Amino acid sequence: MSLAYDVIPVTIVTGFLGSGKSTLLADVLKGEVARDTAVLVNEFGEVGLDHLLIGEVDAQTVLLENGCVCCAIRGELKEALATLFSRRARGEVPPFSRVVLETTGLATPAPIVATLLGDRVVSSHYSIGAIVTVVDAVNAGQQRARHPEWLAQVTAADRIVVSKADLAGAAALDVLEPTLAQLNPAASITRRTCADDASVILDPAGNAHDFADFVRRTGMTAQEPRQGGSPLSRLSATPAHRQGLASLEAFCIEFDEPLDWPVFTLWLTLLLNRHGDNILRVKGILALAGASQPVVVHAVHHLVHPVLHLDAWPGAGKHEAPRSRLVIIAQGLTRDAVAASYRRLCRHLQTAEALID
Ligand SMILES: [Zn+2]
Repeated sequence: MSLAYDVIPVTIVTGFLGSGKSTLLADVLKGEVARDTAVLVNEFGEVGLDHLLIGEVDAQTVLLENGCVCCAIRGELKEALATLFSRRARGEVPPFSRVVLETTGLATPAPIVATLLGDRVVSSHYSIGAIVTVVDAVNAGQQRARHPEWLAQVTAADRIVVSKADLAGAAALDVLEPTLAQLNPAASITRRTCADDASVILDPAGNAHDFADFVRRTGMTAQEPRQGGSPLSRLSATPAHRQGLASLEAFCIEFDEPLDWPVFTLWLTLLLNRHGDNILRVKGILALAGASQPVVVHAVHHLVHPVLHLDAWPGAGKHEAPRSRLVIIAQGLTRDAVAASYRRLCRHLQTAEALID
């Protein structure tokens, strides 16, 4: 008897916080061509929102929350992939032919590759597909200077997608794109606006890794190779990465009442003005006073993106009123301090209104 089995490619989608991975995936995954795709979403922080923004969570979408998939929850990744494969074999999920793993913006790809290749069960069912790295054209300079993960993501990529090209402008792109090509000559570089976004994510072919080359490229950011260590062991997460994660706060602020939009935007503007350098990411889904549909806000450092209007509250139970949730990932800021600043502003505005009476 011969055992028929397939090896399923895992595409790793990475890119620093706020680079637009979730938006890119949401766009690609709603297309018909992505139907046979299982998705794993890894979020950093106590409350994930990305999975809500990607769309309806279905049987083929697995959430890997609370921890970085490259270092803290490698066991969960293996288990999720093994479970997904057996559910597929039993017909409990549709027969997907590829897996897309969306990592947190802080994860480095090389240790994920080591996790997949280093586990006998996982590597007998899955192969490494493409590594796709989304690079935020507006914030690339600051992210590269402050976070070693940025470089690790760029050097690991098979394909680099430059996002926010329109916001960054031609002069910035003239510097950024040659820099990316220099850092990783093996990668293709496209802009997010191009029509090939779907194939950039979904095409698993043509990326059979030259493993020695991969170790050499990503080894630029890995720790010093130990004498006698296997190539896989050289791909583990670096001490700098672990220290960087430990220095970050990820927290969620919930608001009981529907928000007054002008007050909220004033507060967010002031907050980013004062602390934007240390705010890696803001994302939130908000209930606004007088509106039945939620809006989604995104900000990265000092840049606030235009809000998105959703048709309905994703995943909301009918029994509970939707509440605004704002997730912030920052260095040197606490939830209490940020929440207090909002309440202070509201109080001051009420006092100011009384002056006009
Ligand atoms: Zn990690």
